[in-house]
Formats: sequence, C-alpha cells, structure tokens
Amino acid sequence: MLVCVLTASLPALASPEVDAAYPQAHALYLDLHQHPELSGHEVQTAARLAKQLRALGYQVTEHVGGTGVVAVMRNGTGRTVMLRTELDALPVEEKTGLAYASTVRTKDDAGNDVGVGHMCGHDLHMSALAATADVMAHSRDSWHGTLMLIGQPAEETVRGAEAMVKDGLFTRFPRPDVAIALHVGNDLPAGKVGVIPGIYDTNADSLRITIFGKGGHGSAPHTAVDPIVIAARTILALQTIPSREVKPGELAVVTVGYIHAGTKNNIIPDQAQMGLTVRTRKPEVRKQVLAAIERVTVAEAQAAGAPRAPTVEHYESADAVYNDPALAAHLRSVLESALGAENVLSPEPITSSEDFSVFVAQGIPALYLSLGGADPEKLAAAQAAGTHLPSNHSALFAPDVEPALHAGIAAEVAMLRDLLKSAGSAPVSQPGQVGSRGPRSK
Ligand SMILES: [Zn+2]
Ligand SMILES: [Zn+2]
Repeated sequence: MLVCVLTASLPALASPEVDAAYPQAHALYLDLHQHPELSGHEVQTAARLAKQLRALGYQVTEHVGGTGVVAVMRNGTGRTVMLRTELDALPVEEKTGLAYASTVRTKDDAGNDVGVGHMCGHDLHMSALAATADVMAHSRDSWHGTLMLIGQPAEETVRGAEAMVKDGLFTRFPRPDVAIALHVGNDLPAGKVGVIPGIYDTNADSLRITIFGKGGHGSAPHTAVDPIVIAARTILALQTIPSREVKPGELAVVTVGYIHAGTKNNIIPDQAQMGLTVRTRKPEVRKQVLAAIERVTVAEAQAAGAPRAPTVEHYESADAVYNDPALAAHLRSVLESALGAENVLSPEPITSSEDFSVFVAQGIPALYLSLGGADPEKLAAAQAAGTHLPSNHSALFAPDVEPALHAGIAAEVAMLRDLLKSAGSAPVSQPGQVGSRGPRSK
C-alpha cells in the first residue's frame, strides 16, 4: 500500500478524534461497498446504519419515507442541524478491479438482471456520517442543541427526499434550522473540499418521448410513415435548442440517452421511443428548453405526416440545489480553520443534479459541500493531458478513500460543531437579501 503517499495527501490539520473514528468508518465503507443496494431497496444498508447510530446513543427511527433512517441526538438547548447521506447504489457493474469491488447482481424494478455498485460514492458519505456521529456523540461538551442525521433512500431516482418529507421528516422530528450534506467527486483532489455559494448544480428533467408512425414492409416505405427517420431528425433538431435557441453562456444540456424502435431489419415499426435528460440552471432557461423540446418534437412528426402527434412525458424532475450564500461564506471560514485554507477550494457549479433541493425547498437554509475524491497525482496527470478521470456513475469510479473520508469526517464535524455552538440564529441570508432565495422553478 502507498501509505506514505496517502498520508501526504491527508488534510493539513487532521485531528486525533477523526483519526480515532477512522478505522471503524473505513471498515464500514468496505462493507457497504461490497453490499450495494438499488434505489428504494436499501434494506440492509439502512439497517446497518441504524444499528451503528443506535449503538452511539442516537434516537433512531427507521422506515421513514421507505427505507429512510432518522437519528436524533438532543443535547440541551440550541439549534437543530441536519446532516444527510444517501443510501442507494446504482445499476452499474463495477469494473475498477479493486480488491473490494462489488460483485453483486440483482433484478432491477423492470426485472432485468443488473450489476450493482456504489459508483456514486454514497458508501463514502454513509461512512463519513457514521464517523461524524461517533465523534459528536463522544464530545457532547463541545456543542449543544439537536443533531439530526438522516439516511435518505432513492437519491438516484430523485424520489427519496420527497418521500421522507411526505412521511413527516420535518413534523415527526425536529425541524432543522440548517441542513448540510456533501458529495464526493473526481473533479477535486482527495483531502480537499469545495464551497460553491448560490446555485450548486442543475435542474434535472427526465422526458420520455413516443413518436408514432405507420408500420409497413421495409421494402415499401411509400406505404408507411417511418418513426425511426422522424426520431433521427428529432434528435438532431433537439441539439439546436442549446446551440441556437438558448442564449450563449447559459447552461442547457439536452441528451437523448436511449432510443428504442423496431424488431427486424425489413420491418418499418409503428413507433419509436426516446429517453431524454435535460439540465439547466436558471428557471427561465428550464422553461424555455422544455417548451422547445415539445415544439420541435411535435413539429418534426407533423412535417413527416405522422398519423398521430407524439407524446412527451415528463416523468422525473429535480430542482437545482441552492447554497445559502451567507451560510456558505460562514462555513467556508470554519472549514478553512479545520482543514487549512489551502484545502478549501472554490470550484464551478456542477452539471449533475440531486434531490437535496427538496429539503431546501422546505425553507431550510443549506450548504451542499463538494468533497474531493480524486487521487491528487492521477488528477494532476489527467489535467496535464487534457483528459478526465472517470466521473461518478462510471463503472471505473473509485475515490481515493483514505484522504477523502478523512476530509469528509473532519469537514462534517467542524461544520456541525460550529453550527451547534451558539444559541443565536443561524448564519444565513435574510429574506429579501440579494440571492437569499433559491431558484423556484415550478
Ligand atoms: Zn449519483
Ligand atoms: Zn450521488
């Protein structure tokens, strides 16, 4: 093992209490990594986390919004602060070649046999949260108030946060004054964190488009209306929405992730289906892009003489996560003290999405922190070569666990302890202050 290299990339100000909690966190990481469960099916994962938190003295409730876990520790008067981890893994067959790589296979909700892997790093988030819970439980004289730790199911299908809120997360349990969470990624070096004030990520919208044609013999296109040709034209026309309709400089991504049509080379099918993901930052751009997709899709079918207008189903969505600017500025200084100023970076907002925004939409000021996960040397080499390390969701995604987990625990402990040290109001932007409200986009 490259112990000396790993140690060299640890946070500058690693603390003895984090070091003490680390071995158990690492063991939990390896165990969770080898036992991943798909969204909404995090039964063993949730039980494992619940057991560990209960043993530390937290009041633990399971099955909140499905498999969700809520652990509360009351420690005198003061604020209520929530820390969240996700529980779920992805239907991805891990190909990292690591000794502890997942070999799990299961049936997905559609009955397909799929490999399952923690290729988004939620196992690292859970391990960090468990260690943070340990440190906080053993240092109750260093904070006061109510600490609320949650394990959220089904983040990858952007359904779990809403399910927990609907199941009384903020009515059956204390309502947080502030919420925090973090996410590991390969765009920052392990051992460092990134603070992004304001909009952190993107709005995500999932669309299912069905184009209707008229089936026929492959040799007789004049008797048919070919939905594959319509789909092909539609896909290309959709790409002109970001490039020709949206103002240059505004973020807009339209990706057609699948196209399904036909069964045999000499049959013109009677319909084609496409699945899209759409990413935007600003509410007005989101509205513009979604409207344009519908307009282009309908018009292309009409231009081809399709017998029926296509259907555009909007089946999944998540709002962008909004980091309260005043809270972000405050916690940035807290993190600089805890990790060293050189270990707190200011990255650009990311293009992926997440349903932590559901908690923010409940009126709870929040900070979603970026946690570096890349092996610093590999990241530097990739940047020098103009390439990218495997991103989250890749079958090759493998965070540099030791420095990333250390930094994650240290960052969480520092932020929670700071937020739970005074009885005053939370250091958040006031209503009416410029930029104090998250993007509303319904
Ligand atoms: Zn993910
Ligand atoms: Zn994730």
